[in-house]
Amino acid sequence: MLKETSTLSKGKKPLVVMKFGGTSVGNGERMQNVAEIVADHAQRAEVVVVVSAMGGVTDMLIRAATEASQGGREHWKNVRRELARRHREVADQLLTAAEQAVVLPRLASQVGNFENLCSGFSLVREVTPRAMDTLSSLGEVMSAQLVAAILRSRGSPAEAVDATELILTDDNFGNASPLFEETNSRTRQRLQGLRRRGVIPVITGFRGANREGVCTTLGRGGSDYSGTIMGAALDADEVWIWTDVDGVMTADPRLVPEARILPEISYREAIELSFFGAKVIHPKTIQPVMKKKIPVWIKNSFKPTTPGTRIVPSAADGQRGVKAITSVSKAHLVTVSGKDTLSFPRLASKVFGSLSLGDIPTLMVTQSSAENIVSFAVHDADLRRVKMQLEKSFELELLHDNLASIEVMSQVAIVVAIGENMKGTPGIAGRAFGSLGRHGINIIAIAQGSSELSISFAVRSSEMKEAVKVIHEEFKL
Ligand code: ASP
Ligand code: MG
Repeated sequence: MLKETSTLSKGKKPLVVMKFGGTSVGNGERMQNVAEIVADHAQRAEVVVVVSAMGGVTDMLIRAATEASQGGREHWKNVRRELARRHREVADQLLTAAEQAVVLPRLASQVGNFENLCSGFSLVREVTPRAMDTLSSLGEVMSAQLVAAILRSRGSPAEAVDATELILTDDNFGNASPLFEETNSRTRQRLQGLRRRGVIPVITGFRGANREGVCTTLGRGGSDYSGTIMGAALDADEVWIWTDVDGVMTADPRLVPEARILPEISYREAIELSFFGAKVIHPKTIQPVMKKKIPVWIKNSFKPTTPGTRIVPSAADGQRGVKAITSVSKAHLVTVSGKDTLSFPRLASKVFGSLSLGDIPTLMVTQSSAENIVSFAVHDADLRRVKMQLEKSFELELLHDNLASIEVMSQVAIVVAIGENMKGTPGIAGRAFGSLGRHGINIIAIAQGSSELSISFAVRSSEMKEAVKVIHEEFKL
């Protein structure tokens, strides 16, 4: 699995960044398991650890801040107690007395920060995105402290490192982007000493800091992204993302019980899958490792010996056609039509201009220049903003009535067949259509990118499950 031959021949251990998600560090027993995995691999590889907050903690923190900003005190006081209890329980269970003496005051100081922030929010009845980032990523600070201390208690040298010292980001609080060059040099510098002394760094996922040193976050689920940012910065041989499933599957097993684990997928397939809602990795995860072509593994921390899925720069040649199917169950198909006076390019430019202003992603796009219509699908959560933006951009056309119209079809699902080697394999769309047709599933719209990496079908939400099953069967996944 590790590129042992190539790296070992240089007399150096391979470097592996291991990121553990919320369920993998969900309680004492799980954290103990993490320490075992890390200590075991540390014999053969140099390991750098990145951790999420304990499962559920981030949600709890965000809710507490929101309630506090609405003036309530009761709720966040309860969360304060729960936050202290969950972390202290692990410390009691797994740390030596000496480690408890070190770590308990650090955990208490984070709980103190939580209390100060929430009491501030309830006083001013507001929580700014900036303050929210500091608060919502406290869970990572606490879990990193615990995991490092558990490793030390078991005899492995380790030290918690706050990613605000490593990852420099822009000011986009809540969904910040890293500035890679400086992040890379900061990371290398800050970790150099630890690595030389054989100390395992345990880094907080999810958070970074802007130029003034104010904490930012990389978006919900962003610890995966932290993992590959660290991997790229350190020129790691591999990044391992430990989660609670066996790997990337051919389809959602709740929709298709026969779905199976894919041993290998390409970067582009992984990006496409995560964009269309496959929950295994955060959509930005692959981006940092692309240039350096570092392989990323998805592994199950509950079954550490199961190989998992390997995500590699490009798909193996042998596998032709559709590789996996994903779907978005709640989408809307928005259709904008223009009358003759509004040319098609003008119509399209106004539609996408307004989506771009609202920074709204589309799931699929289809058009008919002859009829002068553009249709696109958006996530349920974005519909309100889409309507607002379109109504603003087409205010005049709508006012003059029939110059343009906007229609929304709801209860639509998008089913996406993905496979890098679909390119140049004729007949794939035909087979998919045929199979859906034979099962009486009506296709509302279709789109295929010219890259031929995916084909998307819009179908009724009520027919989504059947559609995914039928295509899965047709391509014998
Ligand atoms: N704890 C953060 C979240 O729940 C980041 C992560 O787990 O990836 O969004
Ligand atoms: Mg996650």
